[in-house]
Amino acid sequence: MLRALAMASVALGPQAAGWARTMASHQLLVAPPEALRKPLSIPNRLLLGPGPANLAPRVLAAGGLQVIGHMHKEMYQIMDEIKQGIQYVFQTRNPLTLAISGSGHCALEAALFNLLEPGDSFLVGVNGIWGQRAADIGERIGARVHMMVKDPGGHHTLREVEEGLAQHKPVLLFLTQGESSSGVLQPLNGYGELCHRYKCLLLVDSVASLGAVPIYMDQQGIDVLYSGSQKVLNAPPGTSLLSFSDKAKNKIYTRKTKPFSFYLDIKWLANFWGCDDQPRMYHHTTPITGLYSLRESLALIAEQGLEDSWRQHRETMAYLHGRLQGLGLRLFVKDPALRLPTITTVAVPAGYNWRDITNYVMDHFDIEITGGLGPSMGKAILSGLD
Ligand SMILES: *Cc1c(COP(=O)(O)O)cnc(C)c1O
Repeated sequence: MLRALAMASVALGPQAAGWARTMASHQLLVAPPEALRKPLSIPNRLLLGPGPANLAPRVLAAGGLQVIGHMHKEMYQIMDEIKQGIQYVFQTRNPLTLAISGSGHCALEAALFNLLEPGDSFLVGVNGIWGQRAADIGERIGARVHMMVKDPGGHHTLREVEEGLAQHKPVLLFLTQGESSSGVLQPLNGYGELCHRYKCLLLVDSVASLGAVPIYMDQQGIDVLYSGSQKVLNAPPGTSLLSFSDKAKNKIYTRKTKPFSFYLDIKWLANFWGCDDQPRMYHHTTPITGLYSLRESLALIAEQGLEDSWRQHRETMAYLHGRLQGLGLRLFVKDPALRLPTITTVAVPAGYNWRDITNYVMDHFDIEITGGLGPSMGKAILSGLD
């Protein structure tokens, strides 16, 4: 490209030569970094923390394929296949289903930026770090944020949610299906129906649980559901999955104000992902190779079948929990029915510092496990996902 421009400037003669002079009007201030002359080196690690997870070979290979244009028809075809894959793993028929160019946080921001307007009442179930983050983003938008706070290890019952709905009359409720900082699996049956009775939409984070535990977006009345690529799906980080029910879409399309983010404006994204009947327009350049990988990760789970993936995670969890308890360790989540199959939290044994344990496993075995996050920091050790 640069060479072509230089040749063009020679061909154009003296006028264009001025352009070349401007290019070289200063000495370089920063030298090429020595570190970049060394080859890239990646250790061979088994990732057993709360994400990212190691890539499946087929997903890894897809990420190494050549880039095509983000608006080529072959790319639109891949995007359509990704949409169908998301509809399958979410168990939804929502037309407004797409992948976001960004990690799980980006999908959460896309949901909140588009659904909330300043002054809206927003009810947030907090039982770990993810509810805290949702509340933080809601405050930035200027929503009236009401938090229902449980200790790490706890979950939100239907009765507690109903009290919150009756008291705060929110337009939106946030719940986390798999609270990866504490290892809690939040039940979801009945919550959608309850929200709708109170004219509230239900938003669920399934970043750490999708593919490993059942979720039925349409049948459970979930209005907005998002997940990430780098956890159970074993794809690289950088893309996320998002879907909106017709009710949620309606709230977005009847907004009085534009969402604060252009990058995450769902009307634009819906068009670019072929979710409306307008011709697709350039919005931003998508992470093309990340989308190849995401497509392959969705293909793998479609081939395996959701029910088989759920069974596999359930059985692995039962085995791991049995062995850990056999060693005399205590699981952080007391009720077995509320334990998340993807992430096992172990109470830090008395007299030990969690950092010494996670460092030991990393230094001796090249295996990543991690300490708690946010409210569970120092209380639990997290292991899981692969
Ligand atoms: C990892 C995780 C996220 C955030 O995802 P990023 O891809 O790191 O932005 C959100 N929610 C849950 C439950 C998670 O485990």
